[in-house]
Amino acid sequence: MTAASPAPSFPWHIGVFDAHCHPTDTMSSIAAIPDMKARALTVMATRAQDQQLVASVARDLGIKSTRVDSWDSRERIVPCFGWHPWFAHQMFDEAQYGGKQILDDDAKVSHYKQVLSPAPDDVSFLLSLPNPIPFSEFLEQTRRHLERFPLALVGEIGLDKSFRIPQPALPEHHETRDSSLTPGGREGRRLSPHCVSLEHQKHILTAQLNLAGQLRRAVSVHGVQAHGVLFETLRATWKGHERKSMSKRERKKRGISAEEAAEEQNGDSDAPRPYPPRICLHSYSGHPSSLSQYFDASVPADVYVSFSTAINYSDRAASTTSQSIKVVPDDRVLVESDLHIAGEDMDKYLEDVVRRICEIKEWSLEDGVRRLRNNWERFAFGRQSR
Ligand SMILES: [Zn+2]
Repeated sequence: MTAASPAPSFPWHIGVFDAHCHPTDTMSSIAAIPDMKARALTVMATRAQDQQLVASVARDLGIKSTRVDSWDSRERIVPCFGWHPWFAHQMFDEAQYGGKQILDDDAKVSHYKQVLSPAPDDVSFLLSLPNPIPFSEFLEQTRRHLERFPLALVGEIGLDKSFRIPQPALPEHHETRDSSLTPGGREGRRLSPHCVSLEHQKHILTAQLNLAGQLRRAVSVHGVQAHGVLFETLRATWKGHERKSMSKRERKKRGISAEEAAEEQNGDSDAPRPYPPRICLHSYSGHPSSLSQYFDASVPADVYVSFSTAINYSDRAASTTSQSIKVVPDDRVLVESDLHIAGEDMDKYLEDVVRRICEIKEWSLEDGVRRLRNNWERFAFGRQSR
């Protein structure tokens, strides 16, 4: 090979799968999906405005089976339904408001004062925020979506300690806003000093983890500057369900193999549980050393970790990301674009992160793409579903 030789061609034909992205933020880009090089996209919902959009794209481009090789050219997405921590404040717990489905102005102000931190004093700011939605109604809607789409997953859900809610849009913003963007995102608005209380975020997250556990769906999880409390919140859902490893001696006494022992421990994998069967830590930004707790033998959920060029390979993050990639077991790494627009850029970002991972893991491109595909299939469908 000479110095001028091009990078080896990329084995798209094996199948590349985006584990986390948001193409419904730019609906005009959806038409590009069937022409993409990536085989399928795992498409997140995040807020009030995008749940129906994800469902409508799934009706058109959703996969119909778990047999990847039998998909036709319009089976391109796995829909995911969930409520992102950045929008957690827009949800209220009806139990606290006497079962009311709609809050009057006084109740709206008191809800936002309770869940925002520091609590805002400016009543006009509070009234300018969206009318909050009853949480159980959202959970019911999500359950219906998950039942309508048996291969759908739960996401994007999680915890974020660094996020502050945006200031309301200024009146002139409505004239200049980019109408191709799905409403409800930040769109360059300035950030207020107010975070959503972690207690409230945990409440919203836990209920969605429980729902995923009941319906045995995998989840895609966002964690920013909250890695310790995120692990604790996840762990709380499987308290009392930890995997116990059977000693060699005990297995011998009972005359069963290691596999049989594991099966006995895990029980019926389709039975409802309070924790999800599989978890993807998306665009993982925690310390590499915090990953080992997720791979402890006692954890009853299978944990995957996905990486994106967009988040994980900004200048600041690159070296810790590479360390994290080394730490994640080979059969638990995923790739994602985390982009808000489908098409050529999404393919480019995916190719970039796949090449980086293959280099770090010292896999050939062909071997790496095959491994990443197998990992995604196991994450999305579970071991038994093929
Ligand atoms: Zn995301």
